Amino acid sequence: MIVLVINSGSSSLKYQVRDGGNVLAEGLIERIGEAGVPDHTAALDLVDQQVNDALDGRTIDAVGHRVVHGGERFSEPVLIDNEITRAIERLNPLAPLHNPAAVQGIRAITGKWPDMSQVAVFDTAFHRTLPERAWRYAVPDELYRRHGIRRYGFHGTSHEYVSRGAAALLGVEPGDFHGVIAHLGNGASVTAVRNGKSIDTSMGFTPLEGLVMGTRSGDIDPSILLFLMREGYSAADLDTLLNRESGLRGLAGTNDMRSIDEAAGAGDQRAQLALDVAAYRLAKYIGAYHVAVGGAQALVFTAGIGENSPGFRAATVGHLGALKVMLDDGRNAPRSREPRVVSAATSAIPVLVVPTNEEAAIAEATVAVVAAG
Ligand code: AMP
Repeated sequence: MIVLVINSGSSSLKYQVRDGGNVLAEGLIERIGEAGVPDHTAALDLVDQQVNDALDGRTIDAVGHRVVHGGERFSEPVLIDNEITRAIERLNPLAPLHNPAAVQGIRAITGKWPDMSQVAVFDTAFHRTLPERAWRYAVPDELYRRHGIRRYGFHGTSHEYVSRGAAALLGVEPGDFHGVIAHLGNGASVTAVRNGKSIDTSMGFTPLEGLVMGTRSGDIDPSILLFLMREGYSAADLDTLLNRESGLRGLAGTNDMRSIDEAAGAGDQRAQLALDVAAYRLAKYIGAYHVAVGGAQALVFTAGIGENSPGFRAATVGHLGALKVMLDDGRNAPRSREPRVVSAATSAIPVLVVPTNEEAAIAEATVAVVAAG
């Protein structure tokens, strides 16, 4: 089955055409909303032209959409119809930058190819198994009932895919796997997995909570916002400050881990501090989630930084001495696209690197949903 995987942003559309494990074509349409590409329909026409050669006369059988927010309703991928599209649209207030773009992508496909099977794969779905003690904030119940204020969690497609990959590497059934998964990209989150299910995760009501990220602060004392509001900061100012100007960028001046690794290696103290803060904060979450899962079988690193920065993995695991978790420098250093063990033989639990692949996960889910009818 040939699947077009679409990740619609407000001004961009990332796509991949897959046939099982093969990537037939991929690309990125940018500047949607500007002169050349007025809307998502125009972007889709460009995708259609770009993939035509690669398809070589064959046709796309189904489309899988990455949808950031599935709210409380969606706990797994679903076949899209008008009612589902409207349900995703109703969640717009919870993901104002992302869900409207996904809806535009879905409607553009429906307009262009009315009979196409479309599947929505939600970033929040894997975390629908969180127990209430993990998803509740200790605020008045009214906030949850009226505004849906609770932990939703994100990166679920990646956490689930990597959790299955880790189970395979350990030789256990996915449903028997207990682990802590650290997805460390420009956005970063850590998930506690018990019996293959998410039981806690560091991102919350929005992707801002939790770890130190590329440009997001992660956890801070909420009173800091109140303090700054009294100093004259508006909601829009705080949004920009915490989502775009904080995290590694706030501490080191850049959100690119490669530059930070290099600068720290050359003795730059701000870069070193950024690494220290981010690794220490992640290590604390790992300790907490090791407890939450009742003893993890493995600690798993994934995504841009998790897969490619031996230094950041070493800095993090350096804080886990109390858990007797240790890396093997010889296994940790080499670069590879393969799932692998990077811990020492004497480590209390293995430390794994399992590359994520959200497009493959979305395509697999799309095939499964379409096949199930
Ligand atoms: P992602 O969002 O998964 O694409 O990850 C992006 C992050 O991965 C950025 O902070 C990159 O700097 C980081 N990254 C990618 N390649 C490397 C590398 N070779 N060494 C260190 N960090 C890397």
